[in-house]
Amino acid sequence: VSAMDVNAAFPKSSFYEITPREDFNAPRMLARLSANENPYGPSPAVVEAIKEAVVTGNRYAHRDASDLIEMIAKKEGVSPKHIMLGPGSSDLLEKMAFVSFPSGGNIVSADPAYMSIISTARALGASWKPVKLKSDYSHDLMAMKSAIDNDTKLVYVCNPNNPTGSITASDKLRTFCSDVSTKVPVFVDEAYLEFLDDSQSHSMVDLVTKGDDVIVARTFSKIHGMAGLRIGYIVAQPERISAITDKVRSTMGLCSTSLKGAIASMSDAQFTAECKKLNTECRNYVVDKITSLGYDVIPSSTSFVLFPIAMDGMDFMKAMNESGVSIRVFSIDEKPYCRVSMGTMEEMEYFVETFEKVTA
Ligand code: PMP
Repeated sequence: VSAMDVNAAFPKSSFYEITPREDFNAPRMLARLSANENPYGPSPAVVEAIKEAVVTGNRYAHRDASDLIEMIAKKEGVSPKHIMLGPGSSDLLEKMAFVSFPSGGNIVSADPAYMSIISTARALGASWKPVKLKSDYSHDLMAMKSAIDNDTKLVYVCNPNNPTGSITASDKLRTFCSDVSTKVPVFVDEAYLEFLDDSQSHSMVDLVTKGDDVIVARTFSKIHGMAGLRIGYIVAQPERISAITDKVRSTMGLCSTSLKGAIASMSDAQFTAECKKLNTECRNYVVDKITSLGYDVIPSSTSFVLFPIAMDGMDFMKAMNESGVSIRVFSIDEKPYCRVSMGTMEEMEYFVETFEKVTA
């Protein structure tokens, strides 16, 4: 992938990826810290469930996937008709873009944000109205509200945000979503929610229960360590879900092993709690080390951290890759930033050691 291909998603933004992505499968990578993957998962219970389920892999999974849907509905305090599953939340982000932008319009979001829904919207002919984050890296909700016009078909909020790792206060976000969703649907991407303490209190799912036109996306890729197994879901008004299923539902349903794996993972709360604990330990370690080297690390509530670096982004990326560390490098307001995912403690020690060597 050339740098130009990657950056096609980011035109006009003050935020873009300045380096080509490294080869994911390069055997020399010792610490793969570029894709916000969970280094511990999946849970052993998931592996067992998948082993069992693979035997009936000759059969399509039931399209309704009602056992998993019911389990999620119970956990989220909504009815099964409020839930839609997909092969990863990115699939549902894309599907939402497909139904929201049949003929132009615009999408309002923070800048920088996770670009999946924005790049799909752009590919469909919509325009992007980016709104800079505030100086504390929270969403500028007032400015986002002002950016909404008659052509706005969707508002996208990623909370906690990627690539900054920052959080927007849930009470302010709740008021914003409730208010804005009377005019335009609000899509809240909560991919990293479970890394927060008392995470459910930060979720916007209660607005869906209240009847607001809010779409909340969650994934099994992060805290559940199931990124490669591709499963995620949205919680939304039943009319929103049927708008998607009527137009762009995948014909043959989901992967039967992943469905069983997700059920097993939801039943293993001890595993996800342990992942959260280890993630926090690693994050504290990295933040302390990088801060003590003189860098301004953005406070993170997620499984990755972002900080500005003091050397050329491309040179930095190459030097880190050559030592076997994969990270992501972004340009934000013309300054290069390193985003590093939390691996195991051993990997993070190697990251810090390599970072010190590369930047010395
Ligand atoms: N949303 C955010 C904010 C993400 O960071 C990611 C993955 N990097 C996704 C959605 C997509 O995750 P998945 O498709 O694996 O569920």
